[in-house]
Amino acid sequence: MSIIESSQKRPRILVVGGGYVGLYVALKLQKKVKAHGGIVTVVDPNPYMTYQPFLPEVAGGNIEPRHAVVSHRQHLKHSELINGTVTSVNHANKTAVIRPVDGEEFELEYTDVVMSAGAITRTFPIPGLAETGIGLKTIEEAVALRNQVAQRIESASNMTDPEARKRALTFVVVGGGFAGIETIAELEDMARHLVQLNDRVSKDEVRFVLVEAMGRIMPEVTEEQALWVVEHLRSRGIEVLLNTSLADATDGNLQLINMADKSPAGEFGTDTLIWCAGVMANPMVRSTDFIIEGRGRIDTRTDLRIKDENGEALDGAWAAGDISAVKDVTGGLPDGTCVPNAQHAVRQAKLLAKNLYAARYGVGSVKEYKHKNLGAVAGFGRNKGVAKVLGIKLKGWPAWMAHRGYHGMAMPTFERKFRVLGDWMVAWFYSRDALQLNNLDVPRAAFEASAAPKK
Ligand SMILES: Cc1cc2nc3c(=O)[nH]c(=O)nc-3n(C[C@H](O)[C@H](O)[C@H](O)COP(=O)(O)OP(=O)(O)OC[C@H]3O[C@@H](n4cnc5c(N)ncnc54)[C@H](O)[C@@H]3O)c2cc1C
Repeated sequence: MSIIESSQKRPRILVVGGGYVGLYVALKLQKKVKAHGGIVTVVDPNPYMTYQPFLPEVAGGNIEPRHAVVSHRQHLKHSELINGTVTSVNHANKTAVIRPVDGEEFELEYTDVVMSAGAITRTFPIPGLAETGIGLKTIEEAVALRNQVAQRIESASNMTDPEARKRALTFVVVGGGFAGIETIAELEDMARHLVQLNDRVSKDEVRFVLVEAMGRIMPEVTEEQALWVVEHLRSRGIEVLLNTSLADATDGNLQLINMADKSPAGEFGTDTLIWCAGVMANPMVRSTDFIIEGRGRIDTRTDLRIKDENGEALDGAWAAGDISAVKDVTGGLPDGTCVPNAQHAVRQAKLLAKNLYAARYGVGSVKEYKHKNLGAVAGFGRNKGVAKVLGIKLKGWPAWMAHRGYHGMAMPTFERKFRVLGDWMVAWFYSRDALQLNNLDVPRAAFEASAAPKK
């Protein structure tokens, strides 16, 4: 009998995805459910939850990668953890199929399922994008970007071919939402720092380009603030191209077009194309028997139970976060559902845990989800940022402090909060740590070279 099978007979709450929602649901339920003789099982291909709002700061060398993720093993000691992917859910039978990171697929029975597999990067069929681009949704991407920017600057400093040098020093971000703006701002700040350390490259040679298809950036802040952000980025030498879209990225040769008349809007080469143009619900929902709404999310009631075909609650089926369409009674997206963000994910997770406990064990009552957006905070590198908190508009240093204050508090677990705080304090005295680590994708190269038969 496998380890998993040995817990098969206990009433199981299966949590599909240990990100924001999954981590909080498990943290809130693991001990209570155990006390009732049940078990919380968390399945995720990663052994950690990623605090995605910190990814731009990880890419920019302000936070160490491991400090921006929360270990499941360390913090979910009363849960059963399976390092793998849920490939399908058959709620009619209350079973899910799991593909472990290593080994054969197997089926798991559950009493309740919590769908919390989040979202993936949304892309379009642009030639060359899949081959040359990189997103910023995972910690690995953030690490790769930090290395990429530092490596390109270092390599360019030895290049004599002007075209190759120009290409190496051109960094492009597509998408002017929060993630795209924070990413380009943090990377530009880091590049500025790196150039100061390297007298073979000048700041004027480094080119940062933001490409945004809409006429404005950052829909989460006011129009006036968004205009200020554009001005701020331009004052730092970042080219902000609005109403512009990427038409072709073959071999890193970018062709841009004007959104209004589809006329050419520029052509240049780059070694670094970062795609931050939005997310879509995890397509694994299509391998379930739940009802999927127009935007590809699981149709979910405001008590966070998944709807049946009549809009009634399915027994033992719950969803929250980016994978779910939950009505936002205070506003939200144009279709009246919650915006996919961490603010909703964490609050929904906490309510879901309470509601599930109430429904399954009869303790407490099931409540409706209601949360009025508190605003938004964004950091653009040291002492720079923009924020709108409870209607109060901030920019520059106060906004940056609000950003750090909010996210420092929101980072799950005290242990991780302290690690991040430590990184910020060290960076305050010694600046960001922009050192690239080479050969992370070929760690055995040095050993292979040593062990190869000598001629
Ligand atoms: C760069 C960036 C910056 C952001 N900044 C902010 C911000 O400042 N403020 C804000 O409010 N929001 C921000 N967000 C959005 C926020 O991070 C998400 O809304 C939030 O993470 C959603 O939580 P979730 O639990 O639904 O999904 P996630 O946190 O993405 O968790 C999903 C989990 O499911 C796992 N998974 C995926 N597929 C499967 C499967 N088949 N089986 C099992 N597990 C699976 C994944 O590995 C992951 O651990 C940002 C996002 C990004 C990418």
